[in-house]
Amino acid sequence: MQAMTKRAGVLALQGDFAAHAKLLARLDVEAVEVRRPDQLTGLSALMLPGGESTTMSLLLDSSGLREPLRALIAGGLPVLATCAGVILLADTLEGDHGSLPVTPLGLLHATVNRNAYGRQVNSFEARLRVDWPALGAAESAADFHGVFIRAPQIAKWRADVVPVAWEGPDVVAVRQDNIVAASFHPELTADPRFHAAVLNLAN
Ligand code: GLN
Repeated sequence: MQAMTKRAGVLALQGDFAAHAKLLARLDVEAVEVRRPDQLTGLSALMLPGGESTTMSLLLDSSGLREPLRALIAGGLPVLATCAGVILLADTLEGDHGSLPVTPLGLLHATVNRNAYGRQVNSFEARLRVDWPALGAAESAADFHGVFIRAPQIAKWRADVVPVAWEGPDVVAVRQDNIVAASFHPELTADPRFHAAVLNLAN
């Protein structure tokens, strides 16, 4: 029997969704760009990209995606949220919100400091330590290359949230059951291990 190609959604309202789609292609996964509620059917996983969270929050409402998306994730659909995606998933936001607030989905039991790492000019790259078994993946000796752009900080988290990646002493990615949230951008590397781990959660 021929294996069916997996389909993963990439929220494509704004931001670096094309980079997620490119990494999914490396894994032979069909990337479905999601802009309308009817595009949410038949997905094995969903990627929430980096970008600008205020814009994404507004477009979640105008597209009618907010409630169906929330229901799917609450129902257990595996999700990889990166950067702005983490802000969208949080239950609590703190720090400098700018003049335009975000209405988060409230699904990730964590407090996220939206612009904790500063502005665009403070962007940086760093070697990360990752607990792959905590992501349901096989141990890997290779470091992960973290790309941080106006990155949010996962400042506090509740008991059901498990840290899975660190930059020095700082937690930069967490897992809560079907949700994996990263302050950095795995989609801006050529390394598909985070995407593969999240797709595996669908099995
Ligand atoms: N801090 C940005 C925001 O508030 C997110 C940055 C990013 O996704 N690269 O939307």
